[in-house]
Amino acid sequence: MTQSTETSAVPLDSPPEIVGRIRDAILSRQRFVLTSHARPDGDSIGSQLAMAYALEALGKEVRLVNADAAPEHYFEFPGVDRIEITPETTTDADAVIVMECSDLTRTGVAGLGDRFLINIDHHAGNRMYGAINWFDESAAACGEMVFDIIKALGVPLSEEIATHIYLAILTDTGSFHHSNITPRTFEICRQTVEAGVNPAIMARRVYDSNSFGKLKLIGALLDQMVLADHGRLAILQMDDAMLEACGCTNNDTEGIINLPLTAREIQAVVFFKTSDVDGVRVSMRSKYDVDVRMVASEFGGGGHKNAAGFTLPDRLSDIQDRVVQRLTRAVNEGLRTRPS
Ligand code: 5GP
Ligand code: MN
Repeated sequence: MTQSTETSAVPLDSPPEIVGRIRDAILSRQRFVLTSHARPDGDSIGSQLAMAYALEALGKEVRLVNADAAPEHYFEFPGVDRIEITPETTTDADAVIVMECSDLTRTGVAGLGDRFLINIDHHAGNRMYGAINWFDESAAACGEMVFDIIKALGVPLSEEIATHIYLAILTDTGSFHHSNITPRTFEICRQTVEAGVNPAIMARRVYDSNSFGKLKLIGALLDQMVLADHGRLAILQMDDAMLEACGCTNNDTEGIINLPLTAREIQAVVFFKTSDVDGVRVSMRSKYDVDVRMVASEFGGGGHKNAAGFTLPDRLSDIQDRVVQRLTRAVNEGLRTRPS
């Protein structure tokens, strides 16, 4: 990394050559579809909307398409209500920019594959499915990569753009808990705050916007939490009946998985959900070097070292023990390399 003596200088490596290629591909086209992954999170929404506002600042036409609606509290952020929700679409746009997707099927939206695809992602195992592919596993959020593109396009950070970049980073680092944070993460955040982002408001909107029903659900889930591996692994489980009893929908589960990690001993959490899915949806979170992405990829999913997931078509009782055993191994391997 280059050292700088000027506090206002950007202490970052210069962006790779691929950013210039993406810039040129954008500047030479007019109509865009922007998409991200199914069941969007803060990074997919933030990356998508920051890019949308930047392209519109250049006079481009932008359509936003996702398979699923964003969780409700994201609707407080600008432009989220513009995202079309559909499992299938047609478009004659000049390019489709796919963010946050290691593989085109992760979008959950059919009908985009025959366009000029620009693939921007930070998930390990990206399949390089685009006409242009920028894959950077070292980015703490896809929003960091979008930030580089926006800078290369010469678009100033408007408050909307800055808000969405900060949202992407805040959420994908697990509110600055995960092991993927670098000086660059804070440098980008610094610039977004300078552009008008209020971190206190962002944190309150993202993390303190629960309904009373969600608080009940948190209580029910934690009450039934099971510990394994000498208390190092927490197991949460939720079905339709529990959701209904608390007056909640699937969207209300966001973030709950992080709560067990607030106990010092707990190194990893697995959350089994059987609502709203044919089979079982499995989410995992971990601390430090416990690598849940490896576990997810062995079960056909993906994600990051500290946050990953997968879905299996099986019954919970048929897979639960296997997942817990594999995670127990990951916890023990991770503890051996844990930073002091
Ligand atoms: P979550 O547990 O919040 O659904 O997902 C955590 C992380 O794992 C996110 O980065 C998400 O994109 C990734 N992830 C979750 N499920 C899957 C999956 O089925 N396939 C892949 N490739 N990634 C997943
Ligand atoms: Mn991400």
